[in-house]
Amino acid sequence: MLKLTPENYYSREADREYWSASQIKTFLECPARAMAELNGDYTRPASTALLVGSFVDAFFEGSLTDFEEAHPEIFKRGGELKADFQKALEMIDRARQDELFMAYMDGEKQTIMTGEIGGLPFKGKFDVYRPGERIVDLKTARDLQPMYKPGEGRLSFADYWNWPLQMAIYQALEGHRLPCYLAVITKEDPPDIALVEIEQEKLDAEMDYLLEKLPYFDAIKQGIVEPDRCENCAWCRMSRKLTAPRPLESFIEIGGNNE
Ligand SMILES: [Zn+2]
Repeated sequence: MLKLTPENYYSREADREYWSASQIKTFLECPARAMAELNGDYTRPASTALLVGSFVDAFFEGSLTDFEEAHPEIFKRGGELKADFQKALEMIDRARQDELFMAYMDGEKQTIMTGEIGGLPFKGKFDVYRPGERIVDLKTARDLQPMYKPGEGRLSFADYWNWPLQMAIYQALEGHRLPCYLAVITKEDPPDIALVEIEQEKLDAEMDYLLEKLPYFDAIKQGIVEPDRCENCAWCRMSRKLTAPRPLESFIEIGGNNE
């Protein structure tokens, strides 16, 4: 088994050997894209939103200087931070004004853990870990309002992004059923902050859901079962092959492109 380090944690090799929360999220969205990523046929484009999240993570990890060196694209030609990252600094400042938020950011940073879930190897990287006490993940979000997902309806912002499932995986890897929290900073002007407790019943329900899906996902990952296509994502658009004209009526269905 590959020994995970901060350097290889996000590598394709590590993703092929281990399952992770983000991989499960991708399998839930589009198994075909998940496999294309594992096979190196598709790379998720770097987005500013992701980079802003990493910038905020780097600050709280204490590695902002390294991050700035690794990402010269966050600066304007004059050497000032681009607007999105100036805003990220405001978000950080907002969180730093709050004593309780900062207390929840205190602990071991970026702890890598591996273990088995449903008999399969998993990896996780905890933003903030207080052994015997809690696991905290730092999140940036547009706002704290409910969001709509086709087929699922109105969801909390955290459910929309499958963050409770991520925390259920972390809790299982850690092994002591520690309380799990999200420390959230919004991108609103001015930014809002929240500490979200994911209830244990919710974590248990997410774990049950994962254990139910895992054998099917694993069969796909092993190449035994053909991956389903969502028909809507960037990979499905890139790899689409037309086989026959589609009836106009089929374009009205929610979530859309399934033939
Ligand atoms: Zn897709």
